[in-house]
Amino acid sequence: MIKKKFLLATTNQGKIKEIKDYLADLPLEIVSLQQLSPKPIFIEKGKTFQENARGKSLYYSQQHSLLTLTEDSGLEIEYLGGAPGVFSSRFSGPRATDEKNIRKVLKLMKGVPPDKRKAQFVSCLALTTEGKTIKEIKESVKGIITLEKKGNYGFGYDPIFFYPPLKKTFAELLPAEKNRVSHRGRALKKLKEFLLLYLESEKKT
Ligand code: IMP
Repeated sequence: MIKKKFLLATTNQGKIKEIKDYLADLPLEIVSLQQLSPKPIFIEKGKTFQENARGKSLYYSQQHSLLTLTEDSGLEIEYLGGAPGVFSSRFSGPRATDEKNIRKVLKLMKGVPPDKRKAQFVSCLALTTEGKTIKEIKESVKGIITLEKKGNYGFGYDPIFFYPPLKKTFAELLPAEKNRVSHRGRALKKLKEFLLLYLESEKKT
């Protein structure tokens, strides 16, 4: 089977694993940014996830001349007016880690009652080729910010994101279980449908 080279333009290992797993059965040779010769990285300045996803996608597809997928995602907490939002990965400052970000959220949410702890994860995907973004997808999933960390799977804010339908945090779900319900899983499902048709139409040209 001939595989089409496909750039998954991110350096976030958590995302790389989830996206690669999800697209594993497509005829794609998936490479991430670390596997290519280093080029300047895109600085995210967008006010929305869509702006960042599209900006990154156009930038990296031009840099590497490949069919390119980017994702911008994050956590929006109602009580915090939508924060950390586009700042999710760097919420606790320039040397942010998942651990420090979680600590900051739990501190800001200290004493906040359960009915005011609503949050959502958002995922925006952008797929670009030859200087044109050919598909954009936005999906989300609603949950509740817990009082403390629970679970060891996943990454980022997963240990404090409780998903009511399964009565578990995202970090307590096995990777396949998380992919079935998560913001990223939902967006990737739509992307996969699009990619199947796109790769099929490419074969004919
Ligand atoms: P980005 O790489 O700028 O899109 O940053 C996304 C950030 O949002 C990650 O570093 C995490 O902090 C958070 N995030 C996005 N998706 C997830 C998820 O599925 N679980 C936990 N945290 C997530």
